[in-house]
Amino acid sequence: MLTEFELIARYFNRPPAPDSRTALGVGDDCALMTPAPGMQLAISSDMLVCGRHFFPDADPAALGHKCLAVNLSDLAAMGAQPIAFTLALALPQADPEWLAPFSQGMLALADRHGCELIGGDTTKGPLTISITVFGEVPPQQALRRDAARVGDDIWISGSLGDARLALAGYRNELALSDTELLQAAPRMHEPTPRVELGVALRGIAHAAIDISDGLVGDLGHILERSHHGATLNVDALPPGNVLQQREVDLRRRFTLAGGDDYELCFTAPARLREAVEKAARAAGAEVARVGSIDREPGLRLVDAAGEALQLDLASFDHFRT
Ligand code: ADP
Ligand code: MG
Repeated sequence: MLTEFELIARYFNRPPAPDSRTALGVGDDCALMTPAPGMQLAISSDMLVCGRHFFPDADPAALGHKCLAVNLSDLAAMGAQPIAFTLALALPQADPEWLAPFSQGMLALADRHGCELIGGDTTKGPLTISITVFGEVPPQQALRRDAARVGDDIWISGSLGDARLALAGYRNELALSDTELLQAAPRMHEPTPRVELGVALRGIAHAAIDISDGLVGDLGHILERSHHGATLNVDALPPGNVLQQREVDLRRRFTLAGGDDYELCFTAPARLREAVEKAARAAGAEVARVGSIDREPGLRLVDAAGEALQLDLASFDHFRT
């Protein structure tokens, strides 16, 4: 049986990267970090609990990836560059067969973004994974939820709904073919945080949020904090590759109120459309312009022709908890 210290040493302690901001990493009472002069720290925590946020038999490598990805997604939505993270783990047992792929999945994503694991806590208990990420962003350039302005375009990165479609398959809410499930599942299990896009949108976008609970709810946070309303062209929302093949009603429901997409929803002045597209290309992300911020409060859903749509979102996604 591994002791707590052996476990940390084996799976979570690595030599610091050469260009690291970490003066002291895993092993002491605290880590020491040296932030770049003049930068602000962006800090966010996200906890994933077994049975609530993932299935007990979840693939450990994908789970390691996802736990960090959802945290990096918060940094992306702020326009912050990841620098470090801490990991608090409650584990039912110290199982090397689980710990090895879990830490590899997590650290591979961390390395891709130059985000160092600098500390954490490990305890016995029901499987719970809590991460705090640290990023940096120049003062005044963070993409805040309260910064949308009347006349801004609303943009979405990537595509929406395939993660929700995979979940519907697992829950037998919908019949999915094996191929459909195979193609949609990675969107649920291994989301791609839009870190490069978030950073590229500094100085261009006004407000941003990452879509974790579904577009309507998450855009709602921007509207509430910015004290504005919006019009959303539902037929401009980009569906995932698998959802794309489904009927219009399901496409609308799952792009509007799916969840677990981890795409960015952001607003930017209409005069900066070309700058947005250029930033997205440089960041390797697709972006779609899907609506606008209005003075009139509330969210108006329209179709491609601009006709109002009456969609009762609460009723078709009642199974979300
Ligand atoms: P303390 O007694 O101060 O809580 P611990 O014995 O819990 O310290 O941890 C020892 C060291 O290992 C600390 O530097 C802590 O940050 C680090 N650590 C503990 N658990 C993890 C983990 N899951 N991942 C990374 N570092 C960890
Ligand atoms: Mg401790």
